[in-house]
Amino acid sequence: MVSNMKLQDKVAIVTGAGRGIGRAIAKNFASEGAKVVINYSKSEKESQSLAQEIKNDGGTALVVKADVSKPNDVKELVKKTMDEFGRVDILVNNAGVLIPARFLDSTEEMWDMTIDVNLKGSYLCSKEVATIMLDQKKGKIINISSVCGLVQKTALGNTPYVASKAGVIGLTRSLAVNLGPTINVNAIAPGVIDTDMVSFFTPERMNVIVDETPVKRIGKPEEIAAAALFLASDESDYITGEVITVSGGRGMR
Ligand code: NAP
Repeated sequence: MVSNMKLQDKVAIVTGAGRGIGRAIAKNFASEGAKVVINYSKSEKESQSLAQEIKNDGGTALVVKADVSKPNDVKELVKKTMDEFGRVDILVNNAGVLIPARFLDSTEEMWDMTIDVNLKGSYLCSKEVATIMLDQKKGKIINISSVCGLVQKTALGNTPYVASKAGVIGLTRSLAVNLGPTINVNAIAPGVIDTDMVSFFTPERMNVIVDETPVKRIGKPEEIAAAALFLASDESDYITGEVITVSGGRGMR
């Protein structure tokens, strides 16, 4: 029987998949037939429950603990994926941290942690899967950036975070050039999405954000997952090095 699932039998690693946007991406991919590797660094319970949900729906999932900023952890993450499934077709570099601080209040520690997870983590994971995907003659890498890495208006707060997300866009373009034509590398720039990451925003700040958003609401993790599914599927084979903004129009260019 021919399946019309978009990711039938593909193997997808989603970093930081226990919570938030990563969780929605992993669920969406599994519902389209992918075997999903659920990576986490702290959220073990949430990750195991997601794997159970996927299995209950007839899907396949593997849970792997790894801090994406640590090269040995990343090596283990990819090794465990290869040991279990024998291939990697899709990598979503989703794991991220946001430590609230404006430039003058930020510290070197905040800078290092943010760059290490958001930017270096994406570099390390991409490097680890790239040779496998090149050998397989196809692959998709999707990096989760942010509108704040693209658009001046949204770049006021959280300087290390903004720098890391702008860096992710540079990384995306460089990888697209270096890994083409075999591997497509694209980024998604979400606007404000309803997850734990933005739970520290005050109601006043949220009101301003909604007011600035043509769609007049913040986004849902599933709306980022829908864009990730497109970039992971064969439907986007002629797109590489691009950034897709999913922000309800906030910060449009
Ligand atoms: P979230 O709910 O806070 O989730 C962050 C995820 O990153 C968690 O699953 C966390 O896993 C994981 N993570 C953090 N450090 C890690 C590490 N060292 N190694 C592996 N995983 C790690 O935030 P979210 O909104 O879903 O964020 C997902 C991505 O979207 C991030 O890259 C974020 O910057 C980006 N983004 C979010 C928004 C937004 O408005 N929410 C907007 C633009 C971009 P553990 O709990 O296991 O540590």
